Amino acid sequence: MGEEKIKPRQLRISYFCPMTNQAADLKDIASYAKKYGYVFPSSEIYDGLSAVYDYGQNGVALKDNIKRYWWKAMVQLNGDIEGLDAAIFMHPTTWKASGHVDAFNELLIDNRDTQRRYRADWLIENYIAELNAKIGKARDCERADTQLKGCIEQRDRVAERMIAALEKDDLEALRRLITDLGIADPISGSKNWTDVRRFNLMFATQLSASADSSPDLYLRPETAQGAFVNFLNVQKTARQKLPFGIAQIGKAFRNEIVARQFIFRMREFEQMELQYFVRPGEALKYYEEWREKRMRWHLSLGLGPAHYRFRDHDKLAHYADAASDIEFRFPFGFKELEGIHARTDFDLRNHQKYANKKLQFFDPVSNQRHVPHVVETSVGLDRLFLAVFSVALQEETLADGSTRTVLRLPHILAPIQAAILPLVKKDGLPEIARSLFGDLKYDFNVTLDDKDTIGRRYRRQDAVGTPYCITIDHDTRQDQSATLRNRDTMEQERVPLTRIPSLLAERISMKAQLRKL
Ligand code: ATP
Repeated sequence: MGEEKIKPRQLRISYFCPMTNQAADLKDIASYAKKYGYVFPSSEIYDGLSAVYDYGQNGVALKDNIKRYWWKAMVQLNGDIEGLDAAIFMHPTTWKASGHVDAFNELLIDNRDTQRRYRADWLIENYIAELNAKIGKARDCERADTQLKGCIEQRDRVAERMIAALEKDDLEALRRLITDLGIADPISGSKNWTDVRRFNLMFATQLSASADSSPDLYLRPETAQGAFVNFLNVQKTARQKLPFGIAQIGKAFRNEIVARQFIFRMREFEQMELQYFVRPGEALKYYEEWREKRMRWHLSLGLGPAHYRFRDHDKLAHYADAASDIEFRFPFGFKELEGIHARTDFDLRNHQKYANKKLQFFDPVSNQRHVPHVVETSVGLDRLFLAVFSVALQEETLADGSTRTVLRLPHILAPIQAAILPLVKKDGLPEIARSLFGDLKYDFNVTLDDKDTIGRRYRRQDAVGTPYCITIDHDTRQDQSATLRNRDTMEQERVPLTRIPSLLAERISMKAQLRKL
């Protein structure tokens, strides 16, 4: 087999500054998520496991609703997209062919005094970000041109040296740059650095029957390869023609080095990916189309357009025609939420080569065989969860001067859609509440809550993000109506009990939202 050097699928060079201190409120978000049963640190009774989290009763429901909304938009509504659930374990050669074994690396440097480990490129990017901040300030105060010019020149020189070192894979040059710039450990100020080393991000394990002790299996670092190796299985059994797509939701694992941003960067996470297979020459057209479609999908969640922006990759991997990220304004700044890539025929061609099997589509119109090109959209489910959760969490001052904490989750994503609250635990009100609960539970996620004053119960449901509360009071016995309270406006309306199921269906309707896409 000709050993053409394969590059990793993801070019892991980020040109933004990932080391800025996370906003204090990320900590608040994490503790709120724990308090209300959304996200718990993994194995907390043993002091937790770094960058691994468990989703609690409300977290799993929110995650499930996000998945359902994505799946409906991608698979159910599109005749040209098929679903897949490939196994996490794959034949080890998969990861040779994809480039992950040889090149899915981070470049690490340790500080000898503090024993802290950093990504070498991030240390330099941080340095560049500081220069950028100085440049910004100097521009704002219209400072002397020479000072500004000096800063700009220095930044460009540093960026050039870093890019040259990364492109040549020259780890010594990277280390020299760190020492020449006098970059210190951001925590301790020590400059006592080790060499720069390469660290593969895949978790390796073994089949139990393996005779030797060398690692021969990997936990997949992305879901995409499952779609590539099943390309023909799906195409033939679903009788699809180009263009068509394979969509998948599943776990991925990366041994991330710097993983300090709650569920933004985890070691075990979930991806929702589409591989869209197209005729050679048509990839850019579909890339543009998917870019727009995916942004429309995000905007439909109603978090506000100011939270999103595109970032086009100016530096492309050699196999990519075009690539961009949808970035989201997280509490610690704009960061990647979803990647959209026009990936040429790189993956299928490499699998053809390594497996020695054809992965081609026979086009009956042109009477030709092609290796399709691929447009990929890849969004992290946990990052999307954090995006939604961080915007939804709001502290409000009400007209009477009191405050309330409200989790304004998009209605279609809320774990509990309605809470049924009998005003008192007597006079037949609990019975009416239970009967309504019995009617609604088949179509909605509902809960019954009869403890504490009604005001406290409203606050509790606001805090957990429940869009509607239905209060059963003494009048209900006479007029067969209840009070429907809206979480966001706090407005209350009187509605007949028999109208409640259809009202909820109208107001919490994925269908209505999907129709607008
Ligand atoms: P980053 O540059 O932030 O490491 P990436 O470019 O390596 O991300 P991709 O390989 O393109 O990410 O993966 C697609 C999506 O998967 C990302 O946009 C992100 O939402 C999600 N993702 C990637 N790594 C992680 C992680 N460690 N934890 C949570 N989500 C992740």
